[in-house]
Formats: sequence, structure tokens, C-alpha cells
Amino acid sequence: MSGTRSDSARRAAGQPGDYHVHTTYSDGSGTASECVEQAIAAGLCEIGIADHLSAVQPTPWDSASIPFAELDRYVAEVRGVAARYGEITVLLGVEADYVPEHEAELAKLLSAYPFDYVVGGVHVIDGFDFDDPAKRDDARWSDCDALFAANYRAVRRAAELGRFDVIAHLDYIGLWGHAAGPAVDAQIDAALDAMAMFGSAIELNTDRISDPAGVMYPSADILRRACSRGIPLVISSDAHAAEHVGRLWDEGIATAREAGYREWLRLSDRTLVPLPPG
Ligand SMILES: [Zn+2]
Ligand SMILES: [Zn+2]
Repeated sequence: MSGTRSDSARRAAGQPGDYHVHTTYSDGSGTASECVEQAIAAGLCEIGIADHLSAVQPTPWDSASIPFAELDRYVAEVRGVAARYGEITVLLGVEADYVPEHEAELAKLLSAYPFDYVVGGVHVIDGFDFDDPAKRDDARWSDCDALFAANYRAVRRAAELGRFDVIAHLDYIGLWGHAAGPAVDAQIDAALDAMAMFGSAIELNTDRISDPAGVMYPSADILRRACSRGIPLVISSDAHAAEHVGRLWDEGIATAREAGYREWLRLSDRTLVPLPPG
């Protein structure tokens, strides 16, 4: 998918890019350079490498993370790739695991490195690593509303921390196909209110292929509610392989427009730019 007229038009327009891309520094299979080349082929103007980072290592659960000892090399490699490709803006990001108990360690870690932006992701609720396939039948799923409510409480706290430019996949807790009941509505509203107040953008995560639920995150309903609060939008692939960078991009744009969005956020200069026609 390279070299089409719409690709060059997209690049010329200074559009936002794919800011949630994993490489071999955490659990991705591609190198930063391979991901950037795919972004160029897909016609993106910007890409951000954002590998997983846990603030406490090792974690009590199984989590992918850039090892502390590799962080300097990660920064140097992404900066090196950025200098090598003049036709695209390459940003240095990270997807930090948000764990309430690790806030102090995370703040210290994030201040120690020159990240251009930080994506916050909730992958564990009260010690329950809910995306572990081995825990798909765990007894805790018998009270889905409690898990969903705890997830949105964590999102709210993450936003209130004020360290995340973007909060990823808001309802990733639904990856196995569960959904929140109406009792969770208040927690969703509180999480979105905190994002609006503290300035975290919301991510429309197009990786609906990899997870069993087969949906983009967040749901159309949450995306509409985010839009009505003026929460800035980014669209991201959450690619774990270079060929997935920019995946389902046009579908993501169409989904965002259906939710009411007409602008999205370019992270290189924190500017809202018009969303292309879906
Ligand atoms: Zn994530
Ligand atoms: Zn991710």
C-alpha cells in the first residue's frame, strides 16, 4: 500500500500518525526501523514508537516491558531512526503500565528519560492480569461489573496523575467479550471527566484483529461520550508487528467520524487538525 495519490495527499496535509507501536524492545516482533518503513509505505506523516514499560520490575504478573537496562539503548535507537528518515516524523514514546501502587516509581522513571509523550495503559486490575488467556475462566469474571468499575476507577486515577498524554484502549477489560452493565456508567463518566480535566487524549485502538472480542477500543458509546466532552483523539494500531503499523486506518477514521469527531491530535506539536473524510 505505497505510493498512491491518497498516501501523498495524507502526508502533505501534516496529518497525525500512529503513536502506539511496539518493537522488539518489549513484545513486538519488528524493529523501530521496520515499523517506520511501514509507516512511510502506509502514507503516515508521523509515527511514535511506544514500547511497554513497567515501573517496577520484575512484576508479580507476566508483563512485557523494556528492561531497565535497555532503556538508554531504546532511546538512542528511536532517536537514531528519527534522524535517519527525513520523510516522516518519528517520536519517542512509551506505553507505561498504569498500576496505582507503582505511581511513585513510574513518575521517577518517566522523568529520567526524554520521552516525547507517554501513553498510559491499564492491563492489570488489583493484581489481576485480566488479559492472560490462562485466566479467562477465573472466578473474578463472575462479577464483570465489579471488574469494569475497577478498570474505570484505574483510568480515572491514571488521568488524575497528569502524566499521560494519551490513555490507551479504555475498555480493554472487555477483550474476552464481556461488557459493562448500566451500573458502571457513573465510573465511565468519572473517568472521562478526569481525562477532559487533566488533558489526556483518548485512543481509538484499531487492533480489533488480535483480541478475541474483535472490536476496536473503546466502544462507540464511550467514544461518543469522549467526543462530547472535547477529549482529544488519537487513532493507533497498537501494532506488535511492523506490517500492522497503520492497520485499519481508514476504518478508524470512519469510526471516529461516526462518534462525532472532526479533529484529531498531532502529537509532534500538540495541534488538533481536521480529520480526513471517512
Ligand atoms: Zn496496552
Ligand atoms: Zn500496546
